[in-house]
Amino acid sequence: MNESKDESGPAGREIRNVGIIAHIDAGKTSLTEKLLQRTGVIRYAGEVAEGTTVTDWLPQERERGISIISAAVTCRWGDAQVNLIDTPGHVDFTAEVERTLEALDGVIAVFCGVHGVQAQSETVWRRAERHGKPAIAFVNKLDRDGADYARTVKNIGERLGVTAVAMQVPIVGAEGFRGMADVLTGLLIDENGAVLEDLSSTDDVWFARESLIETLAGFDDDIVAAALEDSGPDEKLIRRALRKAVLERRVMPVFGGSAKLGLGVRQLLDAICCYLPRPDEACREAKGGGRRLLVFKVQREAHDTMTQVCVRVLEGNVHAGDSLWNTRTRQWLVVSGIYRMFAGTCEPLDDAGYGDIVMLGGLEGDVVTGDVLTSTCQTTTAASMAFPEPVVSVVMECATGAQPSEVREALTMMCLADPTLMVHEGPLAGQWTLKGMGELHLEIVRERLKTEYGLAVTYGRPQVSYRRTVTATGRGECMFEKRLVTGEVQRAGVRLRLEPLERGGGVETDFGDVAADVTEVVGEVVERTLRLLVREGLGDDMPLADMRIVLEQVVCFEGETTEPALLIACRKAVSEALEDGSPVTLEPVMAVEIAAPEDSVGKLLDDLKARRGRVTEVNSVGGSQARIVSLVPLGELFGYASALRSLSGGRGEFVAEPSLYVPLPSC
Ligand code: GDP
Ligand code: MG
Repeated sequence: MNESKDESGPAGREIRNVGIIAHIDAGKTSLTEKLLQRTGVIRYAGEVAEGTTVTDWLPQERERGISIISAAVTCRWGDAQVNLIDTPGHVDFTAEVERTLEALDGVIAVFCGVHGVQAQSETVWRRAERHGKPAIAFVNKLDRDGADYARTVKNIGERLGVTAVAMQVPIVGAEGFRGMADVLTGLLIDENGAVLEDLSSTDDVWFARESLIETLAGFDDDIVAAALEDSGPDEKLIRRALRKAVLERRVMPVFGGSAKLGLGVRQLLDAICCYLPRPDEACREAKGGGRRLLVFKVQREAHDTMTQVCVRVLEGNVHAGDSLWNTRTRQWLVVSGIYRMFAGTCEPLDDAGYGDIVMLGGLEGDVVTGDVLTSTCQTTTAASMAFPEPVVSVVMECATGAQPSEVREALTMMCLADPTLMVHEGPLAGQWTLKGMGELHLEIVRERLKTEYGLAVTYGRPQVSYRRTVTATGRGECMFEKRLVTGEVQRAGVRLRLEPLERGGGVETDFGDVAADVTEVVGEVVERTLRLLVREGLGDDMPLADMRIVLEQVVCFEGETTEPALLIACRKAVSEALEDGSPVTLEPVMAVEIAAPEDSVGKLLDDLKARRGRVTEVNSVGGSQARIVSLVPLGELFGYASALRSLSGGRGEFVAEPSLYVPLPSC
């Protein structure tokens, strides 16, 4: 009998929300395709010929306006509904990675059996770990010369600092790689599940099974007790203990195969369902009475007609036709439809339950990645919007052949999906200023414009976004008065002070006693004006940071105080107060993580020092690889990718993300 049918919805209890993370080229795309194919063949038997790849179906799907390579695509395996969530390949998309990790419950980390753990996969893995996500690993490309499953398992343990356990034994015959024998059953199966061989009595399988049991005995008393018996722990007990250990993130079971040959895919699907958590098991706040959804991705592939607003249901459930409150924009939105994306079809749903991942229709343009939608009108939850401000900007223009209107539309779509990317037109006609989280982040935008949209643009030199703050309380006032040629007079007066806040404190505005003196209209204009000044600075494109703006007086004159007059008075008062408050310029500092061969560490450290970098950690991660963690001012980091290449003999890699702002040293 099924246990109680709770509010988790029809398939709620057997949902798996998983993301695949991998270093570029490890085989994420090939594996996803094979996972969809394997499950799709079963669901759509007769519709899809065996051997057809997702990419082959793309053209006709494009015509229907739905792309298969979706932010999340659902497949079914046995009783479970598996939502495969596309995790961004580039860790530089900070916001996207963070939101995606929040939306999923478990991770499949894919490694290349030839190259082992590479820098990018290690970095994304560390993020997943910070989010507390249980993970299983898949060693891919075991059909290739030089691939070594056992070595990669060891490498995973060492580099990631996890207890990695081999769950399979690779079987190689005269004709090459045949597949993976399961350590628990000893069976080598083909991709349809038929048993090819029973290898349970071989030394390799026996040894792997013993070491798995030994590892589990370290955490599980039932295993210890069973291991003392002659028969040893049975398969069921081992699976239960392993599942618990994975959920507690004590163990990372490692599977393997070849995405290219489609070997090991079936066993991986079994493992996803067996060892990764259901939504209600993933540590998440309790299900409340309300309804809460996280928008973790808004995307529209080039030339698609439908925008995908991809949400994770965090609490309650959602029905087509429901009104939802966007806590960021403070607006009600109506969900016109709910959809589930399968490989090849898009299924409309009446509702979606707790823990599920679906696309919402009707919200185009009103939501961006990271928005939280609720059923009741709530004030903004600060945590849900804490995206870092862009730290670098570049001026770009159309290269010959690209249409400005097309570039504009493509950029708008990318900004919707990525809140850390901002764009505005100018400074000159036909130019855009693009702001983002790092040089690479902006480079990727250029790449995507070219490859996905077929639009060529040229870039200027990247510029650091500096900010201004005060180090002492500064006061300023302005009584503005101007007589126009028409004889009309415009007047407004503003007095205010700026108080320093601690670093990272943002900007607060405080109307204090003034609030009672001004009308709602005037208050609104002043607030809007201050917000603009904070964002754009005083004509120098340097936003204000880390200060409280306290209004002391706003003077209005009946019939003479206009919006432009208030704007000028505010601007002058802020400018005066800034000068009075011992202002300093702040520069962004990036947290930089470098992976490189140990013998290049000396040169790299010298170079970081020359870049005003502060090294916080240097350690060896095995395989004569070292990891360096440091803080480096962004202004010193331009072109670092090529510098690192030459200093490390082409074998170094790095990731950088904005970390903090510090006063620019006076030179
Ligand atoms: P991604 O960058 O992680 O998405 O990797 P892809 O799936 O695009 O694969 C990168 C390259 O590796 C492609 O040329 C694939 O054909 C190849 N590849 C992927 N999986 C395998 C595999 O299991 N065996 C072999 N020999 N090649 C593979
Ligand atoms: Mg790929």
